[in-house]
Amino acid sequence: MLRLHNVHTFYGHIHALKGVSLEVNQGEIVCLIGGNGAGKSTTLMSICGINKIRQGIIEFNGEPIMNKPPDQIVAMGISQVPEGRRIFPRLTVLENLEMGAFLRRDKAKIREDLDHVFSLFPILRERQKQAGGTLSGGEQQMLAIARALMARPKLLLLDEPSLGLAPMIVEQIFKIIKEINEEGTTIFLVEQNAHMALNLAQKGYVMETGQIVMQDDAKALLRDKRVREAYLGE
Ligand code: ATP
Repeated sequence: MLRLHNVHTFYGHIHALKGVSLEVNQGEIVCLIGGNGAGKSTTLMSICGINKIRQGIIEFNGEPIMNKPPDQIVAMGISQVPEGRRIFPRLTVLENLEMGAFLRRDKAKIREDLDHVFSLFPILRERQKQAGGTLSGGEQQMLAIARALMARPKLLLLDEPSLGLAPMIVEQIFKIIKEINEEGTTIFLVEQNAHMALNLAQKGYVMETGQIVMQDDAKALLRDKRVREAYLGE
């Protein structure tokens, strides 16, 4: 479904992605783990067209998408949940969700999808008239995921959904990510919480200083000595 081949991305003179290649198949949950500054967020921003790539190929369902404008990429079926959620704090929960459906023309189905995200996240139904900025961190993360789902993505890109959240909330959010995947949405998950990510995903990539240094079944990575020492604190 998604293929990156030899992708290079720069910030001015900083060579942030140095030939990244990876694949996500339809129906999978694939994770990308790595430390601070490894290039994980840059990978997601390159996929969704926010960062322009200087070299390489990014294909979605066989079609090149590199350097297309972000709105076209969303319309093709890729939605991103950015790091730090970036919800609209002054808009209500409902308005935030409506913004997620901004590019859709099938207005009749939007109501149906609102009901669906409210069934995934019942707390958002309760809080729909509240300003987004008044929600707790976990609720804001739920809102950011729900907003991305309102675009009806085929592929959902998640950037560190566990960031700054208590372990119990993280578990709740990961359970919902699994449910979203079981309903048919393919997931590409970027995480520093390698333990949670590798337990959820079928396949994993490890990134260091702008390069993929390991790739394998998630369960095999969980058992790998280098991964255990570097990313699982063992
Ligand atoms: P984190 O988990 O801390 O977000 P990351 O793996 O997502 O880390 P990136 O944010 O993709 O890493 O950063 C990759 C490299 O690019 C780092 O060296 C970072 O300092 C640099 N970088 C990221 N964003 C910018 C920017 N806007 N301008 C300049 N350099 C940047």
